[in-house]
Amino acid sequence: MSILELRSITKSYGDFFASKDISFDVKKGEFVTLLGPSGCGKTTLLKMIGGFQTPTEGDILINEKVVTKVPPEKRDTAMCFQSYALFPHLSVSHNICFGMVQQKIDKREQAQRLADILEQVGLMEHKDKLPGQLSGGQQQRVALARAMVTRPDIILFDEPLSNLDAKMREGVRFEIKELQRKHNLTSIYVTHDQAEALAMSDRIVVLNRGQIEQIGSPEDIYYRPNSRFVADFIGAANIHTAFVEETEMVGSYTISCNMGELDVQSETAPRGQQVYICWRPEDAELCNEGEPNSFAVTVDSTAFQGNNLDVFGWVGAMQDQKVRLQLSGRVTARSGDVLHVKIPAHCIRFLEEVDV
Ligand code: ATP
Repeated sequence: MSILELRSITKSYGDFFASKDISFDVKKGEFVTLLGPSGCGKTTLLKMIGGFQTPTEGDILINEKVVTKVPPEKRDTAMCFQSYALFPHLSVSHNICFGMVQQKIDKREQAQRLADILEQVGLMEHKDKLPGQLSGGQQQRVALARAMVTRPDIILFDEPLSNLDAKMREGVRFEIKELQRKHNLTSIYVTHDQAEALAMSDRIVVLNRGQIEQIGSPEDIYYRPNSRFVADFIGAANIHTAFVEETEMVGSYTISCNMGELDVQSETAPRGQQVYICWRPEDAELCNEGEPNSFAVTVDSTAFQGNNLDVFGWVGAMQDQKVRLQLSGRVTARSGDVLHVKIPAHCIRFLEEVDV
């Protein structure tokens, strides 16, 4: 059963669409991330799910009940804001209890839940402090505890880690994930950080200009992007145009592109069409000249990354198309070197057709 259903949600401001025809379902306990660049409509969608904004069209269902126009306090959702939104004059304990007081939860039950959550988020020794006496990471944990303690059906996270430094982000990211798993919390998480989305989510909804580009598991989104937008936004990608040769065969195709003729393994292919293809920098393997699916890369520059070497170079008959390789192992390369690399046929992915 779906705990949350979005049915053709549209939010417009005049003739501008912040969200356009958005539909997807979320199951109990799922961690779903809304991912996309600034202005793509992530927060608008989250606010509509939380009841802070009303869609222009479409319906939102929670536990199979239409809640499209139900105000936030009457929905079984809790929001964990980017800015923490803690009450500065209330102690950690009082901040955490705020929602339970509003919900008129029995005092003994409140005390029990408070003690449990303080333990879980590691804030017991800070329970009497004011928010101003806490670090950013601790404040974020208070906000998290406050959202969780009311045991909502759905927790909505609006870029909760964006105010933390890189190291603390990783720590709190791990804590959120642990708590989410432990309590089987349904979570909708907004971020523009693709690494965060890949690491935390069961499913990712990639948004672009208010519309869904792709929905899938992190592996789907990373290894099987369906558009140039997704391939380029998530991780690094080499994107080229290619012509797909006509063939009767299914599953194995030949493409002509500026790296020459390459084999591609794919369930389907736009035969006889000019399309965009992509492959990931780490798909490239060093090989000997002339091996199947190989081509020459003239090195332009390199960046040592410890466990691998990023190589920026040129391919094509004129060596004029830029590519990026990520070579593992103790590889060395210098500007002007010619490397022969191959791309396994299953690592090349068909994207959309080229508009003619
Ligand atoms: P960011 O990552 O920068 O927070 P976002 O993906 O969360 O961006 P939204 O805040 O949802 O984006 O905004 C989506 C679009 O809707 C933006 O172009 C924004 O300017 C526009 N928008 C949001 N609220 C309003 C409003 N009240 N009136 C007009 N346009 C709005």
